[in-house]
Amino acid sequence: MRFGVYTSGGDAPGMNAAIRAVVRSAISQKHSVIGIYNGYEGMLAKEFQELKLRSVANIIQRGGTVLKTARCASFHHAETREQAFLNLKEKEIDALICIGGDGSFRGAMALHAEHKIPVIGIPGTIDNDIYGTDYTIGFDTATNTALEAIDRIRDTAYSHNRIFIVEVMGRDTGFLALDVGIAGGAQDIFVPERTLAVDKVVSRIEDSVKRGKLSSIIVAAEGQKPGRAYDLAEAIRKKSGQEAKVCILGHIQRGGTPTARDRMLASALGAAAVNALASGFNCHAVGIVRNEVALTPLQEVTSNKKSIREDLLNLSQILAT
Ligand code: ADP
Repeated sequence: MRFGVYTSGGDAPGMNAAIRAVVRSAISQKHSVIGIYNGYEGMLAKEFQELKLRSVANIIQRGGTVLKTARCASFHHAETREQAFLNLKEKEIDALICIGGDGSFRGAMALHAEHKIPVIGIPGTIDNDIYGTDYTIGFDTATNTALEAIDRIRDTAYSHNRIFIVEVMGRDTGFLALDVGIAGGAQDIFVPERTLAVDKVVSRIEDSVKRGKLSSIIVAAEGQKPGRAYDLAEAIRKKSGQEAKVCILGHIQRGGTPTARDRMLASALGAAAVNALASGFNCHAVGIVRNEVALTPLQEVTSNKKSIREDLLNLSQILAT
């Protein structure tokens, strides 16, 4: 078979390790691989290049994506997808491997539904918000990047007896905030899935001051509106008169060298995607569930919302005293 592989939507550390695994697994099974640059934009502009064994040398340790990524608004239209399909057919691409998030999977599903081209998705996003996998490629690296920042902020928070609000990415989900918050020993964690009253946060800060804890780190997910940590700081100031410093980590969380865990995940999922297509699976996403590779229909992946672990949210409250 001749596979087309592309990265789409937001980049995530470990995408290169996944591309490498796709290329080398496919070639080991006598298939060939065409790299499609710039996601769906490149599919339309025929940005195709064959990837050989050495094309993916020396990329396992690199963040970002060597195939580049893009958002392509026109891919929402059937006529655009038809053009993309004609380009794939001209290049004799038999099947697609899409590395990306929920939106990219929807694009792949639409292409499959209309033109019957087999597609397999590999979940790559720092947000970890994809159903059908316990972890997405990039999540572990982003968690560790944010954690390193928190450890540094903690030094200054401690020295100045300050409250710091650290805002992490995650769009409308709190997976990143939750793990970063627990691992960083946060006083409170704001996630979009659960409302936390500012009154409660302020009274917890006041209680902890009474117990002799003079500095606090609060982790907040960006939610729908990046920068909301400033609103939170203002609400805390109004309620308590205390000043909270804000640090928005932003895109720093998207880059950098992937961790060992992300490289392992990407290697396993890249190989699993090739095996899935070679054994006749179609319109599925590969994922990791309880340490085993799992295949979930893309329809199920895109129509279900992965839920945040309530037990971990509760644990964070118990541990932060
Ligand atoms: P992610 O894959 O990280 O969730 P986006 O949601 O931005 O990122 O989606 C990436 C691209 O996938 C979009 O720019 C668009 O080209 C394509 N896409 C997203 N949703 C759809 C859809 N419902 N139908 C067709 N294509 C889509």
